[in-house]
Amino acid sequence: MRLSTFFLPVLKETPAEAQIASHRLMLRAGMIRQEGAGIYAWLPLGHRVLKKIEQIVREEQNRAGAVEMLMPTIQPADLWRESGRYDAYGKEMLRITDRSDREMLYGPTNEEMITEIFRAGAKSYKDLPKMMYHIQWKFRDEVRPRFGVMRGREFLMKDNYSFDIDEEAGRKSYNKMFIAYLRTFERMGLKSIPMRADTGPIGGDLSHEFIVLADTGESAVFCDKRIVELPVPPKDVDFDGDLQTTVDQFTTYYAATDEKHDENEFEDAVEDGNRVSARGIEVGHIFFFGTKYSDAMNAVVATPDGKEVPVQMGSYGVGVSRLVGAIIEAFHDGDGCKWPMAVAPFHVGLINLKVGDAEVDAACEKLYQSLSDAGVDVLYDNTPARGGEKFARMDLIGLPYQIVIGPRGLKDGKAEVKRRSDGEREEIALDQVSDHVAKLVQDALAYN
Ligand code: ATP
Ligand code: MG
Repeated sequence: MRLSTFFLPVLKETPAEAQIASHRLMLRAGMIRQEGAGIYAWLPLGHRVLKKIEQIVREEQNRAGAVEMLMPTIQPADLWRESGRYDAYGKEMLRITDRSDREMLYGPTNEEMITEIFRAGAKSYKDLPKMMYHIQWKFRDEVRPRFGVMRGREFLMKDNYSFDIDEEAGRKSYNKMFIAYLRTFERMGLKSIPMRADTGPIGGDLSHEFIVLADTGESAVFCDKRIVELPVPPKDVDFDGDLQTTVDQFTTYYAATDEKHDENEFEDAVEDGNRVSARGIEVGHIFFFGTKYSDAMNAVVATPDGKEVPVQMGSYGVGVSRLVGAIIEAFHDGDGCKWPMAVAPFHVGLINLKVGDAEVDAACEKLYQSLSDAGVDVLYDNTPARGGEKFARMDLIGLPYQIVIGPRGLKDGKAEVKRRSDGEREEIALDQVSDHVAKLVQDALAYN
């Protein structure tokens, strides 16, 4: 992509309304624009990151055996009357009436609709197990939308729903999502910690929030530091094999958000030196709720011996748009973002220090072509801005590598390559720079 064709409205000033780094940087780097309280337009740069995150989420859902679909954003109120949640949901629900005075709502989540879809299309244990997900915009009229996309009112969520014949099978589906979540966040460079979560009036203990540690997180969290060091299952993990052992490893250690935290238990269960009290961002939430919706909405399946039982269900959310902010919170410095390769809007920024100089232009064009041919996403700064401005802008948007080409280096046949994560620079011979950088990108994208 040539910067001259792209749309990148960076801001020089720090926006006064933004309280945390990710919100400030997303506004400054021209990733988002606020269109209303908690409502954002995703500008081209931000949109690219959002799509990368969405794709990782999708790949790991598919790997775990979930199938993708798409439900609408607008839902009929009657569906929610069936479950009893229409009134219970309160003011967080955005209620709408259509031209015929039919009551509708903008979906804050999809348990009711998926239950309705399931009961219409599946009748027997032979149709089970099933997991179905979609990645769709949600609306929740949050009391206090804040921190940019971290707590928006309109936000993008992946929500998956599992259907099983009995509790034991339901737990297996839950475990699949547990493992898929660990892998999903790790691929984005994030260390996520599954923490016990409230199940509310439904009871049971099968609910975990996945928390990324960050000083600016909204939740206070408490855990055993050994849980942070546990290895995440590899790409070839067998989702039909024994997952319980791995889940047990992660759940034997103490880890709880403030809602579930018990100070006495924490002190009993965790040695002094291993206690971590920190803040965290909730990036995912998994939940096994059994027959809550299938009972209320009469979603039954036939068992092998001909009985009819309500189907066992779970739901599994990932905050796709919130993750953009969470990743910036984890990877930035005073100059801007520092994207992990897997979610970077472009892999490489190419800076032409003297646009209009025939030799510099030719060298940049050639490199831009060969990197693109090698599958590297390049943002080529071919604008007439001055060097200092180009460097600052590139640091702000935080692409993992920068290649700088100017008349001085060119005389020695060299380009400069800078790694954004730690600022390290190398001079590379011009005829090798494409191969060299393509390899750096490929190596960074190879994951376990
Ligand atoms: P929270 O406690 O942060 O309000 P929640 O428990 O209401 O979250 P879920 O209903 O479990 O959230 O939704 C699944 C995921 O969607 C959450 O883990 C979070 O990452 C994301 N999410 C929820 N609310 C918002 C929001 N207002 N803005 C952005 N992402 C959100
Ligand atoms: Mg909420």
